[in-house]
Amino acid sequence: MLVIGLTGGIGSGKTAVSDRFARRGIPVIDTDLLARELVEPGQPALADIAAEFGPDCLDDEGRLHRARLRERVFADPAGRRRLEAILHPCIRVLARERIARLTTPYCLLVIPLLAETGMTDLVDRVLVVDAPEAERIRRVMARDRIDETQARRILAAQADRDQRLALADEIVENASDLAALDHRVATLHRHYSTLAATRAC
Ligand code: ATP
Repeated sequence: MLVIGLTGGIGSGKTAVSDRFARRGIPVIDTDLLARELVEPGQPALADIAAEFGPDCLDDEGRLHRARLRERVFADPAGRRRLEAILHPCIRVLARERIARLTTPYCLLVIPLLAETGMTDLVDRVLVVDAPEAERIRRVMARDRIDETQARRILAAQADRDQRLALADEIVENASDLAALDHRVATLHRHYSTLAATRAC
């Protein structure tokens, strides 16, 4: 199984890209969704988080209070590292399990914070979605109904563009319209299908 790691900053268009691979029959495993599964009530990682960060990171029904935890670790790098130490090993195990079940020639593993987490060992190639910062801010403000200050704050907490691009085997320049994006994904799909077939020989 050829595993393509898909990454990119917030608002770059990762979902727009992964949706277009999915439409072509390529399985998409999203590590953000795996992380959500891992903190469902009853999961060991949720208990570990509550033990580490205190019961107020859970709501009245015992579910993770995401906003509270996010606020807590946003300005606290040590806290963020403790949270990652709980979640990342579980994400790796779950991602490998899900990939092992697949039968397609290749799959996408979406790792938004690939440059920050060093999860590159999970993937064979890295596909970076890139778009100009001003465009990303505009898209995120429109999609999430947040103001420019909030959008810039999120961007500033992520790896910078050069760090991400340094990891790239392939790049999607998503600065134009969705028709152009679709065309680029079609080209990449052919490229990855060929690579997967060559590896299988
Ligand atoms: P996040 O990191 O927040 O998950 P993302 O990288 O997955 O973001 P998307 O959700 O795919 O980004 O894109 C952000 C917004 O911009 C979405 O509303 C999407 O529909 C829109 N968008 C993405 N690419 C384009 C494009 N080429 N033209 C117009 N709109 C776009």
